[in-house]
Amino acid sequence: MNTDELAAAARKAAESSYSPYSHFRVGAVVVSANGEIFTGANIENAAYPVSSCAEATAINTAVSQGIRKIASVAVACIDADDVEGAYPCGHCRQTMSEFGVEKVIVTAGDGSVVREHTLDELLPHRFSL
Ligand SMILES: [Zn+2]
Repeated sequence: MNTDELAAAARKAAESSYSPYSHFRVGAVVVSANGEIFTGANIENAAYPVSSCAEATAINTAVSQGIRKIASVAVACIDADDVEGAYPCGHCRQTMSEFGVEKVIVTAGDGSVVREHTLDELLPHRFSL
């Protein structure tokens, strides 16, 4: 899938969001280093810290199926009402680092803008062992 196709797939994944509290539907698509595709959506909980971001859901799905190297992650919030879209939180950026993500694709709420970043841009000087 190319960048625009990944962004569209992330927007589609957001439709499966469970977000009754924020009404902020987010979807993510993970592309493993060997080209496998995994999707995820945010899953909220009445106890907010228990919630899971879309990126974390997708990455956890991939890793639980044996993936250890991820090439890229696309994320979309279909309820964001600006062109910035929803950038991954710090927790998700660190999770991306753990599995070697190189490219992060972020889309605007309406899909009109698609941006590509390296993980180094989004999480410089990150922690690693
Ligand atoms: Zn997150």
